[in-house]
Amino acid sequence: MGSHVKIFTYGCQMNDLDTQKMFSELARGGMVRTEDTREADVIIINTCSVRQKAYEKTLSNLGRLSSLKKRNPGLIIVVAGCVAQQEGAALVERMPHVDLVIGTHQLHRIRELIEKASREPAPIVVTDFSDAIPFMDLIPDGDFVTPGHRASINIMQGCNNFCSYCIVPYVRGRELSRDASRIIEEVQIHASRGVKEVFLLGQNVNSFDGGMSFPGLLREIDAIEGIERIRFTTSHPKDVSEELIACFGSLKTLCSHLHLPFQAGSNRVLKAMNRHYTKERYLDLIERLRQARPDIAFSADVMVGFPGETHEDFLQTLDIMERVRFDVLYSFRYSTRPGTRAASRLDDVPFEEKSERLYELQRRQKEITLENNRMRVGTCLDVLVDSVGTRCPGQVRGRSTHNTVVNLPGDESLVGTIVQVLVTRANANSLTGELAS
Ligand code: SF4
Repeated sequence: MGSHVKIFTYGCQMNDLDTQKMFSELARGGMVRTEDTREADVIIINTCSVRQKAYEKTLSNLGRLSSLKKRNPGLIIVVAGCVAQQEGAALVERMPHVDLVIGTHQLHRIRELIEKASREPAPIVVTDFSDAIPFMDLIPDGDFVTPGHRASINIMQGCNNFCSYCIVPYVRGRELSRDASRIIEEVQIHASRGVKEVFLLGQNVNSFDGGMSFPGLLREIDAIEGIERIRFTTSHPKDVSEELIACFGSLKTLCSHLHLPFQAGSNRVLKAMNRHYTKERYLDLIERLRQARPDIAFSADVMVGFPGETHEDFLQTLDIMERVRFDVLYSFRYSTRPGTRAASRLDDVPFEEKSERLYELQRRQKEITLENNRMRVGTCLDVLVDSVGTRCPGQVRGRSTHNTVVNLPGDESLVGTIVQVLVTRANANSLTGELAS
């Protein structure tokens, strides 16, 4: 096996965590991480296929690596993750310079398969699904957990929901939960390393079923000494239970933030998306969550231009935004993902129309974000400091419980601590403050 590995990561937090784990696993085999592509003996592209853009980026990056491989035939090029799972052998037919294609359930074999690829000239493709994902149980070494006071933890993987536009159930497989005892053990290990905030990850954490319910798991983690903050993503609105809502009322370590994708405001479109909730049910959930935790902040995913979406439907999406007043909205133009149910529908909203809707939605969201930030001026917030400012010396940057970025004067000594900050200014996407006396 070569000695230097470079990993390109695309997509979500789940992929960031998979990258940390791959680095850890390869370091255990003697490999060293590098950021320099020319120095690398192994290059891994950890891919995402949820959106057309991420998928295209992956393919163009892979295409560029072909000339590097010609200059350095010993270089091993690996494609991992969702695109690997989706394309399989077709990928090496299209990109013969790829040596190894490794699917989402096989990542625990990364070291063994790279060793094999270094011995065998023929490309290797391993994309079988299995009944267990041992990679979820792999705990990344502290060196690869950055920043050191925050750790992401897999609690489940896959999805059974089959939203009609989404490729995830096909590339991550059906829902598989990790055993709760392994998760609790991992949190304890992170806590002993000084981690203060844990971020529980899964495609649909609310349907976690690893020997206890998801709210049960939250209560167990809340009791672990040293853990001061718990976040999680992603939640499906149809699976938010009364028990989970109650957790926001009772668990002090649970952050005042929930990412709750709504995708569209029109019940007709939600039905066509196979989302299994209505606009009214979504708004009712928001209301009950606010009753349980009055200062809770929301973020969400939304798309415009789903097949058949009319202007009237789009107005319903704007209406949800006005009512909920999200802090952050991740918004996208619908793009067809081959293999999904929606792919059989005519993508009939013209690109220009999608772009206008997206522009209008993002314009209004910017105003709402700023208005939300202005409401926080003059308040005191607990901020977990993440890093020293690279562009502004003498400044540090962290996150409030609402997941808002907060900048304040400070130095390295504050990194990894939770400080009380008086908010003095609202910015477009962040707050500025000073240490509260
Ligand atoms: S809940 Fe829907 S959007 Fe989310 S991963 Fe599952 S299928 Fe995709």
